[in-house]
Amino acid sequence: MMECYSEVWFLKDSIYCSDKHFKYTSDFFDNFFIPNIVLDSGGKISKDITPNDAFNKMYPERNCVNIFTDGSKIISGSRVGFAAWSSNPEYCLAHRISDSASIFTAECSALLLVIKKIITKGQGIYSIFYDSESVLKALSFFTSNSILINKIRQKLALAYQLNIVIKFVWIPSHVGIQSNEKADSLAKSAAMSENLLDRPIPVTDFTIVFKRKCNEENKTICINLSDTKGTFYFENFYSGKIKPWFAGIGLPRKIIVSINRLRSNHSSLKTSLFRKDIVNETLCACGQSDDSLDHIFWECELFAEPRKILCDNLRSAGKVSPYNVISLLKCDNRNIIYFIGKFLYDIECKI
Ligand SMILES: [Zn+2]
Repeated sequence: MMECYSEVWFLKDSIYCSDKHFKYTSDFFDNFFIPNIVLDSGGKISKDITPNDAFNKMYPERNCVNIFTDGSKIISGSRVGFAAWSSNPEYCLAHRISDSASIFTAECSALLLVIKKIITKGQGIYSIFYDSESVLKALSFFTSNSILINKIRQKLALAYQLNIVIKFVWIPSHVGIQSNEKADSLAKSAAMSENLLDRPIPVTDFTIVFKRKCNEENKTICINLSDTKGTFYFENFYSGKIKPWFAGIGLPRKIIVSINRLRSNHSSLKTSLFRKDIVNETLCACGQSDDSLDHIFWECELFAEPRKILCDNLRSAGKVSPYNVISLLKCDNRNIIYFIGKFLYDIECKI
């Protein structure tokens, strides 16, 4: 526990900390404030042949202030920034924040500072244009578990009480809406600036850092063990990918288990069990040969019908005999895996 603590204690000033859950830090009803959000006009703008003109026609800056906000995460430089742009310079801002901040945090931070500015200005009508649907959708539902969304909601509830009208409009990015491009460019420049805004970020932004570290440590442990454990698997199948080969593949669990047995070279075939002194003999139920992988897949008379289907399927996929199950599984082709899965299903997952 002390080792874990030593890895994270220095982050305490970089993250939002509170002695109670953030939802209990505000007025109860503020948690349920849903702002006015327009999500559907962006689609019409992006379909227009001149999106900038369509935007200006749809949202003229008459008796209201138009503000464009954006967040930017520059992967190559590991830098994060956000900005707001308006034809009224009083509402323009640009800041760099912690390199560990997510793009969601950057975008929320832009909104939060803009709304604070609006509140200090007092009564008025404002339209905030935004190209992040995820933030606006999070604001649409009061079930969001983001501390920043909660803070924005509190500020919006306060603005509402002060008779300040704020409308959020989703607009598509990179379609040539000039003001949006200005906000985008400002956010990118802010990310590369030297001045860092001293502002805590949600603890969840660090999750990815620790996940990556866990995965790397786990990978090192497995590779170091591979000389003596799982050698067959490491020689034939290890890819270092984080997701397992069967993620999202849609095969029944029993078939996934059988294929995993093949990949690890530990199956319920008698030749495999014999190697571990679990059975005394290796003869297949057909009485013709050893109960081995090649025998079951390519020879055993008990499975002639499923084998015919498998071979037809493999031929249709351009595979030519002689076949080898391990080589077929190694090619990591989803169709081939389904064909092998069908064979295993037809022989009732005997392996
Ligand atoms: Zn047999």
